Amino acid sequence: MKAVRFHEHGGPEVLRYEEAPDPVAAPGRAIVRVRACALNHLDLWERRGLDRVKLPLPHISGSDVAGEVVDGGGGFAAGQRVMLQPGLRCGACAACRRGHDNQCVQFDVLGLRSDGGYAELVSVPVENLIPIPAGIDFITAAAFPLTFLTAWHMLITRAGLQRDDVVLVLAGGSGVGQAAIQLARHFGARVFATCAASKADRTRALGAEHAFDHYAGDFSKEVRRLTEGRGADIVIEHVGEATWDRSVRSLATGGRLVTCGATTGHAAALDLRHLFARQLALLGSYMGRFDELKSAAALLFDGRVAPVIDEVLPLSGAAEAQRRLEDKEQFGKIVLRVD
Ligand SMILES: [Zn+2]
Repeated sequence: MKAVRFHEHGGPEVLRYEEAPDPVAAPGRAIVRVRACALNHLDLWERRGLDRVKLPLPHISGSDVAGEVVDGGGGFAAGQRVMLQPGLRCGACAACRRGHDNQCVQFDVLGLRSDGGYAELVSVPVENLIPIPAGIDFITAAAFPLTFLTAWHMLITRAGLQRDDVVLVLAGGSGVGQAAIQLARHFGARVFATCAASKADRTRALGAEHAFDHYAGDFSKEVRRLTEGRGADIVIEHVGEATWDRSVRSLATGGRLVTCGATTGHAAALDLRHLFARQLALLGSYMGRFDELKSAAALLFDGRVAPVIDEVLPLSGAAEAQRRLEDKEQFGKIVLRVD
C-alpha cells in the first residue's frame, strides 16, 4: 500500500509518501480502506519525537480515520462505511471492565504506538468500528472523532455540564474548542470563547456569545463583567501556562476547570486560596470512552453538530498539511483524502 511514514524524528520534511507493507489480518481485528484521515496536534508531537513514548520506526501517524471495511473480522460486511474510535484499550483490566476505557492500563491512541491512518489501509480492533450513515461523507466522519470525543468527556463527564451553565472555552478556534462550543450550545449552556482576533467572527458563528482575544487583555474580567460578577461555571482549558491564571480567575464559586492539554507550557502556578475559598474543581481529561463517542456521533448523524473543515489535501500532501497545522493558520480540521 501507499503510506506516509517517517523513519526518523524531525520537521515535516521527514514525512515520506512511499510504499509500505499492507497490514495483516488477525483475530479480533478489522482491515479498513482509509478514505480520509484528519490531522491532530498529536501527529506533530509524534513526528518531532515524544519525551516519554518511544515510537517504533518507521511510523505511520493518523488517529482520526473514516473509510470502508475490507475485512470486518467477522463483525462487519466488506464495504461497510465506518469511522474509527481512536482510543485503543485492552478490554481486560479493572478500568476496562468498569467501562472506563480511557483509564485502561494499556490505553493507546490509534497512530501513536500503533500505525494509524496516513495510509491506504489500517488495522484496528473490530470493536473500534462505528458504522456511518449514507448522508455523512468520509471527510466529515474523519474530522469528527478525536476532538468531539475529547470535548464530550471534558464537558459532560468531567465537568457535569448543566443547562444554563456559563462555559468559557479557551482557544475556541481550535478543533477541541469548536467541538466544545457546539456541544455546550446544544445542551443549553451560555458560551464564551477566547481565540486569536482573526478567528473571532468564525468562533462566534459556531455559537459563542463573545470571543475574547486571548493574546490581549484579561478575559477573566470580561467574563465577570458579562455575568454580573459571577464568572464561568465551566472553563475548558488546553492552552496551559499562557492562560492558566486567567482561566482560574474566570471561574465562578463552585466552578470547574477541565484541562486536556498544555500547548504553551505545563508549569502552571496556582493560588491555593482561590481553590479552597471559591470551592473550585480542577479536573484532568484525556480522550474519552467508547460509549461517549457513540453518543456524540448520534448528534453528528442527526445534523446537530458538525466538525469544521479547514482544508482537504491528498495523502501525498501530508507534509504540507502538517506545516499548515504547525503555523496555526487553520480554522477547523485539516483532512487528508485517500483516493
Ligand atoms: Zn484495559
